[in-house]
Amino acid sequence: MTDQPTVIPVTAAGPYDVVVGHGVLDRLRGLLPAGVQRVAIITPESLEDLLEPFADLLEGLDVVVLQVPDGEEAKNWEVAAACWESLGEEGFTRSDAVVTLGGGATTDLGGFVAATWLRGVAVVHVPTTVLAMVDAAVGGKTGINTPAGKNLVGSFHEPAGVLCDLALLETLPRAEVVAGLGEVVKCGFIADPRILELVEETEPDALTPDSPVLRELVERAIRVKADVVAGDLKETGGVDGHPGREVLNYGHTLAHAIEKATDYSIRHGEAVALGCVYVAELAARAGGLSPELVARHRAAFGRVGLPTTWNGADFDTLLATMRVDKKARGNQLRFVVLEDLARPVVLAGPSEDDLRSAYAAISGGAA
Ligand code: MG
Repeated sequence: MTDQPTVIPVTAAGPYDVVVGHGVLDRLRGLLPAGVQRVAIITPESLEDLLEPFADLLEGLDVVVLQVPDGEEAKNWEVAAACWESLGEEGFTRSDAVVTLGGGATTDLGGFVAATWLRGVAVVHVPTTVLAMVDAAVGGKTGINTPAGKNLVGSFHEPAGVLCDLALLETLPRAEVVAGLGEVVKCGFIADPRILELVEETEPDALTPDSPVLRELVERAIRVKADVVAGDLKETGGVDGHPGREVLNYGHTLAHAIEKATDYSIRHGEAVALGCVYVAELAARAGGLSPELVARHRAAFGRVGLPTTWNGADFDTLLATMRVDKKARGNQLRFVVLEDLARPVVLAGPSEDDLRSAYAAISGGAA
């Protein structure tokens, strides 16, 4: 099945297009800058099966394949250095390009390699997970992890284009598709309530890779991210009380603490679902968010199959992690919360009582 692709323009320092559709990989060449002669495909070993047909799309160009480890294992300086070495051996110049094919860890690493080689060469991202389509591939954040923490070394480097082919999701485990919907539903609460209606109207099992509703959800979430990023390219803040790019971190402060407490065994989207329910509970206490909207958080995340209760760590452990979260300024905790649907604001320095009681509400009382 091949449909007409949707083209979502992103107004960044260097504007680019995100192309979304089903069976649209033939659009890859059109996203590469004119004059590119050589392409390095950065892709994890687990996607080997996709590689040959994918490389065929670039027939006529010099293609180098840089296979990297799966997932977060790729996001470290040793793997980045191995990629730089290969680009050096191949004599990559500024008119050559990197193409990433993989999930969010691959786009983060590949984007970082592209950002740093010769102080920046073009990169086109071809994300293969829902999470990477709606989050990692758009917005220009690149990075690697260090022993001190995740994403502490990196750079803003906007891609030349992003190609989201939903057909690539067909071999993705269902739990990964569901986890990606965590960021999508988040976008529904912070900016686009139509996303919530679509989730509420659709049988969750019908959200398969060939579903037009899944495609619309992905497109809407990308538009939310593209709009936010265009308004706040380097995360310096928004205007008129809007939190700016920080809004994308809705639910992420607790989510990061939960990820750390589970040694990153929980999926990011699952942790985000828990974190969003948590900040809704927090906003109900600190800012008067309505009980109906809090309940809608539980219902929407729960409906797509994401967790809304969790008690895998005690609150003091999570609080200690949240205090060192890079979004904290000084020692005051900051959260993006809603004052109403699609009306995000920053809540700075909530009381420890409110923080603790909101956690009791998602953990079944374990505070
Ligand atoms: Mg995220």
